[in-house]
Amino acid sequence: MGRRFPSYTHPTNMTLNHNIGVLALQGDFDKHIQSIRACGAATVLLRDPEALDAIDGLIIPGGESTTVGKLMDRFGLTAAIRRRAAGGLPIYGTCTGAIVLAKEIIGSDQPSIGAMDVAIERNAYGRQIDSFEVDVSIPAIGDEPFRAVFIRAPIIRTLGSSVETLSVCDGNVILARQGNLLVSTFHPELTDDLRVHRYFLDAICGNATVCVGR
Ligand code: GLN
Repeated sequence: MGRRFPSYTHPTNMTLNHNIGVLALQGDFDKHIQSIRACGAATVLLRDPEALDAIDGLIIPGGESTTVGKLMDRFGLTAAIRRRAAGGLPIYGTCTGAIVLAKEIIGSDQPSIGAMDVAIERNAYGRQIDSFEVDVSIPAIGDEPFRAVFIRAPIIRTLGSSVETLSVCDGNVILARQGNLLVSTFHPELTDDLRVHRYFLDAICGNATVCVGR
């Protein structure tokens, strides 16, 4: 059983002054930008380590994790993001983002940030059902089901004791949090439902004590 965080209620009329970086090397970063802006926060396209200084939260989008890992290395971002993650920067990784944030990518030594205490297996739903949608329950964002879109999704196989499970689907953890880090194996940016992005902004970015640590 992972660590528990205080229960979360979405505050209405909350002013969001966040400046959220969206890693824009490859993948569906544009959809996250639209979701974050629809929540009322500002966005920054993150392509270089300097831009990390200007943000108080970071999203690592879906895409192709080996490509994203290589590009992060090439742009000098891997170590810089790892340092900021350790310093408390709120980071939300979706799908490929979850893979590059994981401490262990099962069966692979591809480049990654390795900040979150989970072991994750890529493309783990198999070919025949490698993309699907399903309504899931996420108690932390409310009672209404959330339409979760999975695209060649990974499965989180093990979670460390500091990782809190926020949603489970068919016995697999699909949304999890470790302090300032949030990962989902599905893509909330592909729906109009902003509740997961709002949770990241309000419950994680809103309560973060960030130490830049550079
Ligand atoms: N299969 C991709 C990978 O291994 C992840 C897919 C996604 O981000 N939707 O990186």
